[in-house]
Amino acid sequence: MSEKLCVFPGSFDPVTIGHLDLIERASRLYDEVVVAVLHNPAKQGRFTVEKRMELLAKACAHVPNVSFDHFEGLLVDYMNARNARVVLRGLRTARDFETECQMAQFNLQMAPGVETLFLAAKPEHTHISSSAVREIGMFGGDVSPYVPASIAQEVARLLKPQPKR
Ligand code: ADP
Repeated sequence: MSEKLCVFPGSFDPVTIGHLDLIERASRLYDEVVVAVLHNPAKQGRFTVEKRMELLAKACAHVPNVSFDHFEGLLVDYMNARNARVVLRGLRTARDFETECQMAQFNLQMAPGVETLFLAAKPEHTHISSSAVREIGMFGGDVSPYVPASIAQEVARLLKPQPKR
């Protein structure tokens, strides 16, 4: 079991500046941060898992100790497979607290050695979510305040509706 590794699981559809802030902060606490994109076959994302990982890698190019992976199924199974025991999650609001706490409790029950650690979102990031970015971009709004600068143009282009011919 490695205590020096933390796994940051999520959809990252797409990565936002809120996610990136958590990754940067975790990278100063742990030797290695694994960002693990959840592939949920029942819920098709806006971006493919491959594209989400590509965007994450571009956004995190300045963070030396981060790597990217994807998984399907239960997080606890992934944690066991990676021999990891720290799950990192972010808390924005009281609503996050409720759902995140519940999820952490299930994981604790299913895998008693796996602990979830929470980092509070920066106050200026609490309203930012991937779903808001998708919605703003879909209607041609400016997504650049919410996604890392290195991927802002690409995200805007990919979300922009194609003109009807
Ligand atoms: P999921 O679908 O698993 O919630 P997300 O990609 O939406 O995946 O979020 C992954 C993690 O990042 C969650 O713990 C979430 O609370 C956290 N997070 C999302 N947006 C922000 C933000 N703006 N600031 C800090 N943490 C965030």
